Amino acid sequence: MNIARVLLGACLVLLVAWCRAEPLTVAPNSGTVSLTPHLRLLQDPQGQLQFREVLQPQAQQAFQPVSGNAANFGFSSAAYWATFTLRNDSEQPLPLVIRQDYPLIDYLEFWAEDASGQWQHTATGDREPFASRALPLRDFVFPVLLPPHSERTYYMRFATQGSLNIGLSVSGETAFLPELGLEQFLLGIYYGGFLVLVIYNLFLFLAVRDRAYVYYMGYAISYGLYFGVHNGVSFQFLWPQNPWLGNEILIVLLGLSLIFAIQFARKICSGRQLSPRLDWVARNLMWALVPLTLLAPVFGYRLMILVFSALTLVICILLLAMGTMSLLRGSVSARYFMVAWVTLLGSVIVYMLKTFGVLPHNGFTQNAFQVGALVEMVLLSLALGARVSEIHKRGYIDELSRLYNRRHFDEQLPREFCSAARNSTPLSLLMLDLDHFKSINDRYGHSQGDRAIHAIGQLILKQVRKPVLACRYGGEEFAILLPRTSGEQAAAVAERLVSLVAELELDEMSLTASIGVATFAQDNYASAVQLFEAADAALYRAKLAGRNRAEVEQFELAPAAHANTAPSQ
Ligand code: GH3
Ligand code: MG
Ligand code: MG
Repeated sequence: MNIARVLLGACLVLLVAWCRAEPLTVAPNSGTVSLTPHLRLLQDPQGQLQFREVLQPQAQQAFQPVSGNAANFGFSSAAYWATFTLRNDSEQPLPLVIRQDYPLIDYLEFWAEDASGQWQHTATGDREPFASRALPLRDFVFPVLLPPHSERTYYMRFATQGSLNIGLSVSGETAFLPELGLEQFLLGIYYGGFLVLVIYNLFLFLAVRDRAYVYYMGYAISYGLYFGVHNGVSFQFLWPQNPWLGNEILIVLLGLSLIFAIQFARKICSGRQLSPRLDWVARNLMWALVPLTLLAPVFGYRLMILVFSALTLVICILLLAMGTMSLLRGSVSARYFMVAWVTLLGSVIVYMLKTFGVLPHNGFTQNAFQVGALVEMVLLSLALGARVSEIHKRGYIDELSRLYNRRHFDEQLPREFCSAARNSTPLSLLMLDLDHFKSINDRYGHSQGDRAIHAIGQLILKQVRKPVLACRYGGEEFAILLPRTSGEQAAAVAERLVSLVAELELDEMSLTASIGVATFAQDNYASAVQLFEAADAALYRAKLAGRNRAEVEQFELAPAAHANTAPSQ
């Protein structure tokens, strides 16, 4: 009987010793070390255990080491107790900091034994005011002093509605401070980037008054704040007195960023014009999100995070579909939009793969999501810029022929003329007019006439490359401006166009065109107007000579040259 008792006692002692956390020896110049391999955890399903109960041998035996290299428990209604032991083998007392690097824990408690053997208790968490923290930092950081040649055991209790991530580490104070400095610096750059994008686009909005900018700013601000809540900086700097707001606003910010993202996408992808059905879906989703977002605090975090996660997935697919649609229709801003979303999705996938342990936990995988979001913001800002230049360009495009319009020609002709005069390069101008177009209209109807104008526009577009500028001057007249092109080259282009128009097959319609060519070279014309008049005169001659041909205006000497040669005439 006695032997049995002794054996049982010995087993219990061994068990307690085994269950005790493996102590971690900390050196005076120790850098940051993860505590996860040295942790023992105890699940408290009802969350009712008291600290003194946890110290009892029974509870002590129930502590388990962490399996794997992460202590993440997802959404759990249980409380988790964590304990670890630190040892100082050196001659000096060691000032250390214990850090929990996930700041969204509702209630976090910490117990450390002081020199007199009394347990010192700190109760904090993101549902407590910010001032409850031992150090006013975005993460939970507990400073402790480990006496020389000693071993100390610490206890922590985690309870939270959200994701229960235990990410504990210990650092020597001298290693912690420079690390913290670098971290704050990088966070400053990160949020500074968001701020610069918002301010920059605010000024652009004031200049162009396009509502897409408002949606962009709404998206950037809500998304930036959302990350700020995740990093703990919003609580630290924006509402330290208001833990309630910090907790409830997370879903609201997620909802707002989805609403703004949808509205932004509808504008950038011109949803209403390009894909009315998708736009209808997007608009209704957006309206459904408004009450959900406003009421999120009423329904509680657990339910709403599930609802919003599902909605985020649906919206991502929708936005990609809208972007693809717009891209296929040739929108330049949709290109930036798609690259932006693909970048964000890629970074989310990297982050998820890291969370599920497929990818290693390192600086890249840990921060991919956040950095991806900032890169996305930059690309979306470029998409806005492209949209504005597209709208601007649209004002210079003739809808029927898809060539530039008269307004653009009138602006460009004097500009090109000055440039040619300054650089002493030739500049040619072709004026093309369709022959007997009135009777084409009379015979085939105006809509067929329109088709012919469109076809001529396409034909000219195919024949010219930048810097050649092709415009519909008006009615059935086209102007083609050819910088750095000599008279002979321009005449060759004109001859080719005349024969291509004549060969054009448009049902039973047969079209011909007459072209007048004039070239500015060696200061033969004094102004752009004179060059234009010369091309027009050549066109008139082509008409008189029987149409379906090109006529080149003979070089005239500039007025100054005229004056010089006048006496000899
Ligand atoms: P010519 O060979 O002397 O140039 O004869 P023309 O009939 O082409 O000349 P005119 O300038 O008298 O007529 C031009 C016609 O072009 C008149 C107008 O009905 C037609 N036209 C102008 N703009 C458009 C348009 O946008 N669509 C259609 N279908 N017809 C147009
Ligand atoms: Mg005509
Ligand atoms: Mg005409």
